[in-house]
Amino acid sequence: MKQIIGISLENEMDLILAHKRTMQVGEQLGLTVATRTTLATAVSEVVRTVIDLTNNGRLNIVIYGKFPRYSLNAEVGFKSDLSFRETDEGFFYAKKLLPDFNFEVSENSYHVRMGLGLPRSLKLDEGKISLLQSYFKKSSPLNSYEEIKNKNSQLNQLTAEQEKEIQFARDLDERKTEFISVASHELKTPITIIKAYTQMLMLLKDQYSEKVGSVISKLETQTNKLSLLAYQLMDVSKLENGRLQYDLVRIDINSFLRETISILSNVHSENNIDLQLSDDCVAMADPLRLEQVITNLIGNASKYSEKGSHITVSTSISDEKKSVSIQIADHGIGMSKEGIARIFEKFYRMDEVTVSHPGLGMGLYITSRIVTDHGGKIWVESVVDEGSKFIFTMPLLEDAC
Ligand code: ADP
Repeated sequence: MKQIIGISLENEMDLILAHKRTMQVGEQLGLTVATRTTLATAVSEVVRTVIDLTNNGRLNIVIYGKFPRYSLNAEVGFKSDLSFRETDEGFFYAKKLLPDFNFEVSENSYHVRMGLGLPRSLKLDEGKISLLQSYFKKSSPLNSYEEIKNKNSQLNQLTAEQEKEIQFARDLDERKTEFISVASHELKTPITIIKAYTQMLMLLKDQYSEKVGSVISKLETQTNKLSLLAYQLMDVSKLENGRLQYDLVRIDINSFLRETISILSNVHSENNIDLQLSDDCVAMADPLRLEQVITNLIGNASKYSEKGSHITVSTSISDEKKSVSIQIADHGIGMSKEGIARIFEKFYRMDEVTVSHPGLGMGLYITSRIVTDHGGKIWVESVVDEGSKFIFTMPLLEDAC
């Protein structure tokens, strides 16, 4: 089947288009005036009947057959809950004009075909049919109505393609989320077991030689990193499914920071972590999640700085004592403007660090969600090669300062 033209049938203007275009096809094929008029009249009869009662019809003019026998066909398809019959006026007259007339209905879908055998004298072949197709593809619109109609249909096609792409991206994202969820849960069990055995080995470390002892220490460090990654993956999957839950309790910010920083100072012994605290204050927060935020920001400050450099953790309370801001400043590699704008996105890592520093770009995404879920804000101030300062706020309990 070779489609020559297609016209959607929505209103009376399409009746004129259908008639004119059918006449043009007949003319281009070299049909006699009488034959093309007969065909166009039959098409108009069917099209008018369809347009009167529905606005979802479509006319296709197609050529069937193989060299040297071809037939020209006008096909009208439409859907309707009304009951149409072959004997209805328009169809009846069309059939009288073109006896090769076929009327099919299945549930509420109708298909009408009118055929016309093309005489061999037209000397039609595949090449000529292709030329005919491109003639109508390139032909300028018959009137401004057809011009708008064509533009509309191009626009609709574009929208449909874009919707398809968006749907594809959504499906892919859903599958990725599903994969992360399954993978992180599958990782959890073996990692927990490895961690337990590693801790047992750490307790027995003194019984082994120095060399074995250092291997055990390395094993512990790497197991902790692996465990952190698995938990981050699980958090990302929980965030995607909107399932990060918080157990809020009153937290004295200063003693909480003192305790957390004292543990982290041991973990990042190669850096000096200074603590500069303002007045005591109390916030409602999930202690484990707040610890996760601080651990992650200090972990990054250490990871993206030289060994031995200073990290400063400081707090300040807002004027009306409504919130506390906690700042973690380093003197590390800093960030470009693009980095500053994007680091809180899921899986984002700056190009500069992908080879030099390990990581998956999940930490700040999770951190920012934890902060905003607590009603706070997080942002960064940074200069390349000078360092970065991460600042996040936590709402304070009233009269708790
Ligand atoms: P990861 O560190 O695993 O890559 P994060 O989400 O914690 O993931 O950080 C995202 C990106 O932000 C990092 O890859 C890095 O490019 C940048 N970044 C985060 N913290 C700092 C920092 N203190 N100094 C410089 N760059 C940082």
